Amino acid sequence: MTQDWGKRTKLVHHGARRSQYGEVAEAIYLTQGFVYPSAEAAEARFLDLGADEFIYARYGNPTVAVFEDRIAALEGTEDAFATASGMAAVSGALLAMLKAGDHVVSSRALFGSCLYILENVLSRYGVEVTFVDGTDLAQWRAAIRHNTTAVFLESVSNPTLEVIDLRSVAALAHDVGARVVVDNVFATPVFSRAAEMGADVIIYSATKHIDGQGRALGGVVCGTRDFIRGTLEPFMKHTGGALSPFNAWIMLNGLTTIDLRVRAQAASAQAIAEALQGHPKLARVLYPGLPQHPQHAIAEAQMEGFGTVLAIDVAAGKEAAFRLLNALQIIVISNNLGDARTIATHPATTTHQRLPEDQKIALGITPGLIRVSVGLEDVADLIADLRAGLDMI
Ligand SMILES: *Cc1c(COP(=O)(O)O)cnc(C)c1O
Repeated sequence: MTQDWGKRTKLVHHGARRSQYGEVAEAIYLTQGFVYPSAEAAEARFLDLGADEFIYARYGNPTVAVFEDRIAALEGTEDAFATASGMAAVSGALLAMLKAGDHVVSSRALFGSCLYILENVLSRYGVEVTFVDGTDLAQWRAAIRHNTTAVFLESVSNPTLEVIDLRSVAALAHDVGARVVVDNVFATPVFSRAAEMGADVIIYSATKHIDGQGRALGGVVCGTRDFIRGTLEPFMKHTGGALSPFNAWIMLNGLTTIDLRVRAQAASAQAIAEALQGHPKLARVLYPGLPQHPQHAIAEAQMEGFGTVLAIDVAAGKEAAFRLLNALQIIVISNNLGDARTIATHPATTTHQRLPEDQKIALGITPGLIRVSVGLEDVADLIADLRAGLDMI
């Protein structure tokens, strides 16, 4: 049975559903709804939806269902729910499980939109959020209390690549019956061992490595069948954050090659980090695969690889960082990550521009920091591109 298949086999075949035509590639069911053979059949379907039965594309769709089954098989969770974007997944998972009076503990180093949900949205609905330094277990221990319903964290933070000790945070959360919700984008579904480490709900922006080619938005929430179908699906199907069948098809094609891509990109990220480590114009090179990284051992224990993103900190600051960026010939300046193209981002002036100066400093987002999402180009070309950029400083 498919449970015994290896990851790559699952990524190509798991959950495939073929129509009466026996198509090889997954069919794209571009339909908002479904026709019932009789009024009685419609009544029966609304009363009790069977496996592989559909009513309306906001609730579910065959192409989307294949994607959900395949990503759940990869992640090792019972089920998954696909969403219109990574943020629909994050906001949907949190809003579906929380209510007024609940308490959430969250790491502070978050993707900007995640921070907005935790800091600005939840409070308006009576949910109290305590922020901690995610790498400091003492802060988690002090903040988690008896009415804590959930903890939220990015297992590897953006853009400074801090790694949070999932197993220890999960143990503290589970002691009070709180759910562990992990935004696992930087760990990637290829290297993730989040479920094994105690994460209850694992979220991906499929826009990143799952598509992997910078084409489409999508997201997915992985968890127990009880949470996905009992708690999340009712919320999502009525609030409308469904993934489109076309984007589900793009994501399915992304999954076919994700294992090869992410492993190749991570190997290049490691090589670039090692090549630039100690460069006289850099104050820091941040990559969990470097032995000098403060959480290298944790990363090694809880991930099968160290990810596809690194960050370099240009010692001379913003103008020097801009000079490097503007000199790049292969690497593009943009803000996506997990793409086949290597992308450089200056977080302080783009993705994290709106953070107050003191918070930027607290999070390590210095004026010289450049995030590099490593793609599929020849690594020697990427190293040469970055070195030439550094020479321009
Ligand atoms: C990109 C990203 C998101 C949001 O995903 P979208 O698909 O852009 O909505 C959330 N968390 C992290 C860590 C991300 O990198």
